[in-house]
Amino acid sequence: SHTILYGVFGDPIRHSRSPIMLNRAFRETGLNAAYAAFHVSPQGLGDAVRGIRALGYRGVNVTIPHKVEVMQYLDEIDGGAQVIGAVNTIVNEAGRLIGYNTDGIGYVRSLKEETGIQLQGKHVLLLGAGGAARGVAYALAKEGSACIYIANRTKERAVELAATIGAFTKAVGLGLDELGDVVDAAGLIVNTTSAGMHPSVDELPMSVDHLREHHLVSDLIYNPRITRFLREAEAKGARIHGGLGMFIYQGAYAFEYWTGTPAPVAAMRQVVEQSLTE
Ligand code: NDP
Repeated sequence: SHTILYGVFGDPIRHSRSPIMLNRAFRETGLNAAYAAFHVSPQGLGDAVRGIRALGYRGVNVTIPHKVEVMQYLDEIDGGAQVIGAVNTIVNEAGRLIGYNTDGIGYVRSLKEETGIQLQGKHVLLLGAGGAARGVAYALAKEGSACIYIANRTKERAVELAATIGAFTKAVGLGLDELGDVVDAAGLIVNTTSAGMHPSVDELPMSVDHLREHHLVSDLIYNPRITRFLREAEAKGARIHGGLGMFIYQGAYAFEYWTGTPAPVAAMRQVVEQSLTE
Protein backbone atom coordinates (compact mmCIF):
# COMPACT_ATOMS: atom_id res chain seq x y z
CA SER A 1 0.00 0.00 0.00
CA HIS A 2 1.21 3.52 -0.74
CA THR A 3 2.30 6.15 1.75
CA ILE A 4 -0.47 8.51 2.96
CA LEU A 5 0.74 12.10 2.86
CA TYR A 6 0.34 14.93 5.37
CA GLY A 7 1.94 18.32 5.98
CA VAL A 8 1.89 21.75 7.59
CA PHE A 9 1.71 25.13 5.83
CA GLY A 10 3.28 28.15 7.56
CA ASP A 11 5.52 31.20 7.17
CA PRO A 12 7.96 30.96 8.88
CA ILE A 13 7.93 27.17 9.26
CA ARG A 14 11.47 25.94 9.89
CA HIS A 15 11.16 25.83 13.69
CA SER A 16 7.91 23.85 13.61
CA ARG A 17 7.91 20.74 15.82
CA SER A 18 4.86 19.33 14.02
CA PRO A 19 6.80 17.11 11.57
CA ILE A 20 8.78 15.27 14.26
CA MET A 21 5.65 14.96 16.43
CA LEU A 22 3.32 13.62 13.72
CA ASN A 23 5.93 11.37 12.08
CA ARG A 24 6.57 9.86 15.52
CA ALA A 25 2.82 9.30 15.91
CA PHE A 26 2.60 7.50 12.54
CA ARG A 27 5.58 5.30 13.40
CA GLU A 28 4.19 4.48 16.87
CA THR A 29 0.81 3.41 15.43
CA GLY A 30 2.34 1.50 12.49
CA LEU A 31 0.69 3.70 9.83
CA ASN A 32 2.39 4.04 6.45
CA ALA A 33 2.31 7.84 6.37
CA ALA A 34 4.66 10.82 6.14
CA TYR A 35 4.35 14.46 7.29
CA ALA A 36 6.37 17.34 5.81
CA ALA A 37 6.70 21.08 6.54
CA PHE A 38 5.96 23.48 3.67
CA HIS A 39 7.04 27.11 3.58
CA VAL A 40 3.95 28.74 2.06
CA SER A 41 3.86 32.52 1.56
CA PRO A 42 0.54 34.43 1.85
CA GLN A 43 0.47 34.87 -1.96
CA GLY A 44 1.02 31.13 -2.45
CA LEU A 45 -1.68 29.90 -0.06
CA GLY A 46 -4.44 29.36 -2.65
CA ASP A 47 -2.17 27.32 -4.90
CA ALA A 48 -0.89 25.33 -1.91
CA VAL A 49 -4.45 24.41 -0.86
CA ARG A 50 -5.33 23.35 -4.42
CA GLY A 51 -2.17 21.24 -4.23
CA ILE A 52 -3.70 19.23 -1.38
CA ARG A 53 -6.40 18.02 -3.80
CA ALA A 54 -4.10 17.72 -6.83
CA LEU A 55 -1.49 15.65 -5.00
CA GLY A 56 -3.96 13.66 -2.92
CA TYR A 57 -2.69 14.80 0.48
CA ARG A 58 -4.93 13.32 3.18
CA GLY A 59 -4.50 16.16 5.68
CA VAL A 60 -2.71 19.40 6.41
CA ASN A 61 -2.14 21.59 9.44
CA VAL A 62 -2.17 25.35 8.94
CA THR A 63 -0.22 27.71 11.16
CA ILE A 64 0.82 31.37 11.41
CA PRO A 65 -0.11 33.45 9.38
CA HIS A 66 -2.65 31.39 7.40
CA LYS A 67 -5.31 30.23 9.91
CA VAL A 68 -7.90 32.83 8.87
CA GLU A 69 -7.09 33.33 5.18
CA VAL A 70 -7.15 29.59 4.44
CA MET A 71 -10.88 29.36 5.16
CA GLN A 72 -11.88 30.91 1.80
CA TYR A 73 -10.24 28.02 -0.10
CA LEU A 74 -12.01 25.18 1.72
CA ASP A 75 -15.23 23.35 0.77
CA GLU A 76 -16.64 23.11 4.28
CA ILE A 77 -15.87 24.59 7.72
CA ASP A 78 -16.73 22.75 10.94
CA GLY A 79 -19.17 24.67 13.18
CA GLY A 80 -16.65 25.38 15.94
CA ALA A 81 -14.01 26.61 13.49
CA GLN A 82 -16.66 28.86 11.96
CA VAL A 83 -17.40 30.51 15.31
CA ILE A 84 -13.67 30.83 16.07
CA GLY A 85 -12.99 32.23 12.58
CA ALA A 86 -9.82 30.17 12.14
CA VAL A 87 -8.79 26.74 10.85
CA ASN A 88 -5.66 24.83 11.88
CA THR A 89 -6.51 21.37 10.48
CA ILE A 90 -7.73 20.37 7.01
CA VAL A 91 -9.11 16.93 6.22
CA ASN A 92 -9.27 15.83 2.56
CA GLU A 93 -12.38 13.64 2.16
CA ALA A 94 -12.00 12.34 -1.42
CA GLY A 95 -11.27 15.81 -2.80
CA ARG A 96 -13.60 17.73 -0.43
CA LEU A 97 -11.49 19.86 1.93
CA ILE A 98 -12.98 20.28 5.41
CA GLY A 99 -11.54 22.76 7.95
CA TYR A 100 -11.41 22.21 11.72
CA ASN A 101 -9.83 24.01 14.66
CA THR A 102 -8.15 21.83 17.30
CA ASP A 103 -6.33 24.62 19.22
CA GLY A 104 -9.09 25.37 21.74
CA ILE A 105 -10.05 21.74 22.48
CA GLY A 106 -6.35 20.89 22.70
CA TYR A 107 -5.85 23.66 25.22
CA VAL A 108 -8.77 22.66 27.45
CA ARG A 109 -7.78 18.97 27.38
CA SER A 110 -4.25 19.87 28.49
CA LEU A 111 -5.47 22.30 31.16
CA LYS A 112 -7.90 19.80 32.70
CA GLU A 113 -5.50 16.84 32.58
CA GLU A 114 -2.48 18.67 33.93
CA THR A 115 -4.19 20.78 36.61
CA GLY A 116 -7.47 19.01 37.43
CA ILE A 117 -9.23 22.42 37.31
CA GLN A 118 -13.04 22.52 37.42
CA LEU A 119 -13.96 25.11 34.77
CA GLN A 120 -17.68 25.16 35.48
CA GLY A 121 -18.52 28.50 37.13
CA LYS A 122 -14.95 29.87 36.97
CA HIS A 123 -14.12 33.50 36.27
CA VAL A 124 -11.41 33.62 33.62
CA LEU A 125 -9.07 36.43 32.61
CA LEU A 126 -7.80 35.86 29.07
CA LEU A 127 -4.88 38.06 27.97
CA GLY A 128 -4.79 38.62 24.20
CA ALA A 129 -7.36 38.48 21.41
CA GLY A 130 -5.41 36.99 18.47
CA GLY A 131 -5.95 33.72 16.64
CA ALA A 132 -5.05 31.46 19.56
CA ALA A 133 -7.18 33.51 21.97
CA ARG A 134 -10.26 32.96 19.79
CA GLY A 135 -10.02 29.16 19.96
CA VAL A 136 -9.22 29.12 23.68
CA ALA A 137 -12.02 31.59 24.55
CA TYR A 138 -14.58 29.51 22.63
CA ALA A 139 -13.45 26.25 24.25
CA LEU A 140 -13.49 27.79 27.76
CA ALA A 141 -16.95 29.23 27.13
CA LYS A 142 -18.24 25.78 26.10
CA GLU A 143 -16.83 24.33 29.34
CA GLY A 144 -19.26 26.50 31.31
CA SER A 145 -16.95 29.15 32.74
CA ALA A 146 -19.10 31.84 34.40
CA CYS A 147 -17.45 34.89 32.87
CA ILE A 148 -14.53 35.47 30.52
CA TYR A 149 -12.76 38.81 30.73
CA ILE A 150 -10.74 39.35 27.56
CA ALA A 151 -7.97 41.96 27.86
CA ASN A 152 -5.95 42.97 24.82
CA ARG A 153 -3.35 45.62 23.98
CA THR A 154 -5.64 46.66 21.12
CA LYS A 155 -8.90 46.93 23.06
CA GLU A 156 -11.20 46.84 20.00
CA ARG A 157 -10.12 43.26 19.23
CA ALA A 158 -10.97 42.21 22.80
CA VAL A 159 -14.41 43.84 22.56
CA GLU A 160 -15.04 42.12 19.23
CA LEU A 161 -13.99 38.70 20.58
CA ALA A 162 -16.13 39.21 23.71
CA ALA A 163 -19.12 39.87 21.43
CA THR A 164 -18.51 36.57 19.58
CA ILE A 165 -18.05 34.55 22.77
CA GLY A 166 -21.03 36.31 24.37
CA ALA A 167 -23.31 33.88 22.53
CA PHE A 168 -21.95 31.07 24.79
CA THR A 169 -21.11 32.72 28.14
CA LYS A 170 -20.83 36.13 29.79
CA ALA A 171 -17.82 37.92 28.24
CA VAL A 172 -16.29 41.38 28.68
CA GLY A 173 -13.67 43.07 26.47
CA LEU A 174 -11.04 45.31 28.10
CA GLY A 175 -7.78 47.06 27.35
CA LEU A 176 -4.67 45.48 28.94
CA ASP A 177 -4.41 48.72 30.98
CA GLU A 178 -7.94 48.32 32.43
CA LEU A 179 -7.55 45.17 34.53
CA GLY A 180 -8.41 46.70 37.94
CA ASP A 181 -10.37 44.29 40.17
CA VAL A 182 -10.62 41.69 37.42
CA VAL A 183 -7.30 40.10 38.40
CA ASP A 184 -8.47 39.41 41.94
CA ALA A 185 -11.84 38.06 40.79
CA ALA A 186 -10.32 35.59 38.31
CA GLY A 187 -9.50 32.01 39.30
CA LEU A 188 -7.81 31.26 36.00
CA ILE A 189 -5.54 33.69 34.08
CA VAL A 190 -4.46 32.66 30.58
CA ASN A 191 -1.75 34.36 28.55
CA THR A 192 -2.50 33.98 24.85
CA THR A 193 -0.33 36.94 23.77
CA SER A 194 3.09 36.42 22.28
CA ALA A 195 4.69 38.47 25.10
CA GLY A 196 7.38 36.19 26.57
CA MET A 197 7.83 34.02 23.50
CA HIS A 198 11.32 33.30 22.23
CA PRO A 199 13.29 35.54 21.55
CA SER A 200 11.40 38.21 23.62
CA VAL A 201 11.67 36.08 26.76
CA ASP A 202 11.75 39.05 29.20
CA GLU A 203 8.36 40.48 28.18
CA LEU A 204 5.41 40.11 30.57
CA PRO A 205 1.78 40.26 29.35
CA MET A 206 0.66 41.90 32.65
CA SER A 207 2.03 42.90 36.05
CA VAL A 208 2.38 39.98 38.48
CA ASP A 209 1.89 42.24 41.54
CA HIS A 210 -1.66 41.04 42.28
CA LEU A 211 -1.14 37.32 41.66
CA ARG A 212 -1.74 35.09 44.70
CA GLU A 213 -2.32 31.54 45.91
CA HIS A 214 -5.89 31.34 44.58
CA HIS A 215 -4.76 31.88 40.97
CA LEU A 216 -4.07 29.25 38.34
CA VAL A 217 -1.87 30.98 35.75
CA SER A 218 -1.58 29.41 32.32
CA ASP A 219 0.55 30.39 29.32
CA LEU A 220 0.11 29.14 25.74
CA ILE A 221 3.79 29.71 24.99
CA TYR A 222 5.86 26.50 25.04
CA ASN A 223 9.22 27.89 23.88
CA PRO A 224 10.49 28.62 26.50
CA ARG A 225 8.74 25.75 28.35
CA ILE A 226 8.24 27.99 31.39
CA THR A 227 7.93 31.71 30.59
CA ARG A 228 9.06 34.55 32.84
CA PHE A 229 5.35 35.22 33.47
CA LEU A 230 4.83 31.69 34.84
CA ARG A 231 8.05 31.77 36.89
CA GLU A 232 7.05 35.05 38.56
CA ALA A 233 3.46 33.88 39.08
CA GLU A 234 4.73 30.75 40.82
CA ALA A 235 6.96 32.89 43.05
CA LYS A 236 3.77 34.74 44.12
CA GLY A 237 2.22 31.43 45.17
CA ALA A 238 0.06 30.81 42.08
CA ARG A 239 -0.23 27.40 40.40
CA ILE A 240 1.10 27.36 36.84
CA HIS A 241 0.43 25.55 33.54
CA GLY A 242 2.59 25.82 30.37
CA GLY A 243 1.70 25.57 26.67
CA LEU A 244 3.42 22.33 25.69
CA GLY A 245 0.40 20.17 26.43
CA MET A 246 -1.77 22.32 24.16
CA PHE A 247 0.69 21.84 21.32
CA ILE A 248 0.67 18.06 21.83
CA TYR A 249 -3.13 17.81 22.02
CA GLN A 250 -3.89 20.09 19.06
CA GLY A 251 -1.70 17.70 17.05
CA ALA A 252 -3.28 14.65 18.67
CA TYR A 253 -6.80 15.78 17.71
CA ALA A 254 -5.63 16.48 14.14
CA PHE A 255 -4.12 12.96 14.01
CA GLU A 256 -7.44 11.50 15.18
CA TYR A 257 -9.51 13.47 12.63
CA TRP A 258 -7.19 12.23 9.86
CA THR A 259 -6.67 8.60 10.85
CA GLY A 260 -9.57 7.62 13.12
CA THR A 261 -6.91 6.08 15.38
CA PRO A 262 -6.30 7.16 19.02
CA ALA A 263 -3.19 9.37 19.09
CA PRO A 264 -0.08 7.98 20.88
CA VAL A 265 0.15 11.04 23.11
CA ALA A 266 3.01 9.86 25.35
CA ALA A 267 5.31 9.17 22.40
CA MET A 268 4.39 12.49 20.81
CA ARG A 269 5.14 14.37 24.03
CA GLN A 270 8.45 12.57 24.50
CA VAL A 271 9.79 13.45 21.06
CA VAL A 272 8.74 17.13 21.32
CA GLU A 273 10.23 17.50 24.82
CA GLN A 274 13.46 16.00 23.54
CA SER A 275 13.57 18.42 20.58
CA LEU A 276 13.03 21.45 22.85
CA THR A 277 16.05 20.60 25.02
CA GLU A 278 18.37 19.98 22.04
P1 NDP B 1 -1.59 36.46 16.96
O1 NDP B 1 -0.56 37.22 16.21
O2 NDP B 1 -2.88 36.11 16.29
O3 NDP B 1 -1.99 37.32 18.28
C1 NDP B 1 -1.00 37.90 19.10
C2 NDP B 1 -1.65 38.47 20.36
O4 NDP B 1 -0.61 38.89 21.24
C3 NDP B 1 -2.52 39.70 20.10
O5 NDP B 1 -3.56 39.70 21.05
C4 NDP B 1 -1.53 40.84 20.35
O6 NDP B 1 -2.16 42.06 20.73
C5 NDP B 1 -0.75 40.28 21.52
N1 NDP B 1 0.59 40.83 21.70
C6 NDP B 1 1.65 40.68 20.88
N2 NDP B 1 2.74 41.25 21.42
C7 NDP B 1 2.36 41.79 22.60
C8 NDP B 1 3.04 42.52 23.62
N3 NDP B 1 4.33 42.81 23.51
N4 NDP B 1 2.33 42.89 24.72
C9 NDP B 1 1.02 42.58 24.82
N5 NDP B 1 0.32 41.90 23.89
C10 NDP B 1 0.99 41.51 22.80
O7 NDP B 1 -0.85 35.17 17.51
P2 NDP B 1 -1.50 33.78 17.99
O8 NDP B 1 -2.76 34.09 18.69
O9 NDP B 1 -1.54 32.83 16.87
O10 NDP B 1 -0.40 33.25 19.03
C11 NDP B 1 -0.23 33.88 20.29
C12 NDP B 1 0.70 33.06 21.18
O11 NDP B 1 0.15 31.78 21.45
C13 NDP B 1 2.09 32.81 20.56
O12 NDP B 1 3.05 33.00 21.58
C14 NDP B 1 2.03 31.37 20.16
O13 NDP B 1 3.30 30.75 20.25
C15 NDP B 1 1.11 30.77 21.19
N6 NDP B 1 0.41 29.59 20.65
C16 NDP B 1 0.64 28.38 21.25
C17 NDP B 1 0.01 27.25 20.78
C18 NDP B 1 0.26 25.93 21.44
O14 NDP B 1 -0.06 24.92 20.84
N7 NDP B 1 0.77 25.90 22.66
C19 NDP B 1 -0.91 27.30 19.62
C20 NDP B 1 -1.08 28.62 19.06
C21 NDP B 1 -0.43 29.72 19.57
P3 NDP B 1 -2.67 43.13 19.60
O15 NDP B 1 -4.00 42.65 19.16
O16 NDP B 1 -2.72 44.41 20.34
O17 NDP B 1 -1.64 43.12 18.50
